[in-house]
Amino acid sequence: MTKLPHSVRWRMLMNDLIRTYAKLILRRNPKKEHIGLLGGPGSGKGTLAVKLGPARGLAPLGMGDVLRRDDIQKEYGDRLAEMSKGGLLPDALVHEILERELTLPAYRSGAIFDGIPRTLEQALLLERTLAWQGIKLDWVFLLEFDDEELVERLTHRRTCPNPACRRTYHLKYSPPQVPDVCDACKGPLIQRKDDVPEVIRARLVKYREEIVPLCMFYRDARRVLVLVKPPKGSTPQDVFDFAMRHLKNN
Ligand SMILES: [Zn+2]
Repeated sequence: MTKLPHSVRWRMLMNDLIRTYAKLILRRNPKKEHIGLLGGPGSGKGTLAVKLGPARGLAPLGMGDVLRRDDIQKEYGDRLAEMSKGGLLPDALVHEILERELTLPAYRSGAIFDGIPRTLEQALLLERTLAWQGIKLDWVFLLEFDDEELVERLTHRRTCPNPACRRTYHLKYSPPQVPDVCDACKGPLIQRKDDVPEVIRARLVKYREEIVPLCMFYRDARRVLVLVKPPKGSTPQDVFDFAMRHLKNN
């Protein structure tokens, strides 16, 4: 297997030193829990984050939601315009926003990361930020599904376009009570433009490329990766139960 480059190993070592320094010298060792969620489009990361959050007393941090939020748009709008063009955001910018986000009181007990890190660079930067607080990611769950299952799940996805709501539904697993109407805000539901098979397949190709270095980092180097490979037909509740069992027993 290919190994992480020397420069990455070096930065990991630096992060370890920072964390030790923060703990021993700065006496920072807050009781916090940080969980990362990785998985392709449609793997249910967002749903898991929203369920795990209250169960563990942690705030879900959905990077997509943060980037769309008004205050962030106001301050970073121009630089984020890249996002609407579908381009990948620069790691440094994503990290700057994340670092600020983590200072909010909502994350006092920790966070569940959904949609970040997307790259190895983001993973290293996130690790450094946490290291200065004397902490690290405790677990990273990788939700693994076959491509075909992800395509099938996403084509059944319906989203509430209301910016204050943004709930997602699955026509099979978590349908709205009234067809095409949001349970929460009663607005009409839509199928997102990128939730159609051709676009999904392109997103999956990109995801498979992105996940390899992150896997090496969290599985082989940091040993915090938990592979979740639910059998076909598993519900979001099954995935949640699995994650909760793991967190309780480890
Ligand atoms: Zn809604």
